[in-house]
Amino acid sequence: MNLPRKVSVLGSTGSVGVSTLDLFEKAGIEIEIVALTAGRNVDLLADQALRWRPKLAVIGDEALLPRLRARLAGSGIEAAAGAAAIAEAAAADAQWVMAAIVGFAGLEPTLAAARSGAIVALANKESLVCAGPALLRAARLAGGAVIPVDSEHSAIFQVFEAENAQQVSRLILTSSGGPFRGASREEMARATPEQATAHPNFSMGAKISVDSATMMNKGLEVIEAAYLFSMPAERIDVLIHPQQIIHSLVEYADGSTLAQLGPPDMRPPIACAFAWPDRLPWPAPRLDLVKSGPLTFEEPDYERFPALAIAKQALATGGRAPAAMNAANEGAVAAFLDRRIGFLDIARVVAETLERMDGKGLIAGSNEGALDGARLVDATARHVADEVVNGLMARA
Ligand code: NDP
Repeated sequence: MNLPRKVSVLGSTGSVGVSTLDLFEKAGIEIEIVALTAGRNVDLLADQALRWRPKLAVIGDEALLPRLRARLAGSGIEAAAGAAAIAEAAAADAQWVMAAIVGFAGLEPTLAAARSGAIVALANKESLVCAGPALLRAARLAGGAVIPVDSEHSAIFQVFEAENAQQVSRLILTSSGGPFRGASREEMARATPEQATAHPNFSMGAKISVDSATMMNKGLEVIEAAYLFSMPAERIDVLIHPQQIIHSLVEYADGSTLAQLGPPDMRPPIACAFAWPDRLPWPAPRLDLVKSGPLTFEEPDYERFPALAIAKQALATGGRAPAAMNAANEGAVAAFLDRRIGFLDIARVVAETLERMDGKGLIAGSNEGALDGARLVDATARHVADEVVNGLMARA
């Protein structure tokens, strides 16, 4: 088996980062960690660095560098801080890079990893949403690859027959439906951050948990799938499947539908991205279909969950719409977690931001130009979203 030896984990202190290191531990494989990076959780980063002995540990918040240095004193591990240092670490000489920083902040490091020619295990879906074609092109040109870690895209990746791509009629992304699957709009209007972040099957970071509750997460995933598998919006469907056992499906022209199954756990898709095209032996939790009980399915409800429709529309509009939508969503989710706006306001802020930007002619145009274009759209959309949030707060 030809496994990568030198690896880096970007966002090592987050839910996916911790699962990645746990998988390495459980698999008992020999690896050399080049870099670990975090945003603010300096103590966990230092603990991980002392355990895994990377060449480099980088903290995003520069004010925390003295503490990181103090924790790593005498260890021989280099400490650094700031966004530029994270991007530099991402491009250091790893063969495999886990991209698990949350949000737009992950774009620059993920792109740097792709440009270095490493295999990029992509959890940071926002970077693909904001600059998908550029990111995939960068990996291709550098001789590397982007392998999805999101469980739905990992599922599709595993059953997508590249040689029969023309005969794929539909991608079907499954979704748990989130914590408000059965809730009315009135109940959702009163939802607190605690309720919105209580995902039924997974323990994840706060931002993706809220995205799962609004179903913007599935919207981001539709865009992610469109770029990863070169599939138009109208051939990507969403299916609610609360048990999250079937992780997604690919339907072919001959009437066959292939699915990938597994327990709801991020480590199998991480293992898949790590060992591909081989399979990593490790003591994985096994799927027991008898114990998991009946598998059920429902149509998504686009009226109760407008974020899903907004994302599909952004994909159809193309150009800068997905990047603007992502930025507005990040701003709105942060405002909701700070209790500045209500749960239902999240989708309102995103829709209103896109409308205002479109009205000013800021949405049309290609996003192929990569980082600079994506940065500008991101900054503009965040500013407009802030204005919308402030307007909502003034009216409340
Ligand atoms: P978490 O919030 O748990 O972790 C995010 C990581 O990013 C942390 O290490 C955090 O550091 C770091 N980070 C945050 N902001 C910055 C910044 N400005 N600069 C540098 N680093 C930063 O998120 P998840 O692990 O849940 O998700 C990570 C990504 O993976 C997201 O894009 C998500 O959509 C995707 N994903 C997650 C899944 C899951 O099961 N959790 C499933 C599929 C995809 P710190 O904590 O130290 O501040």
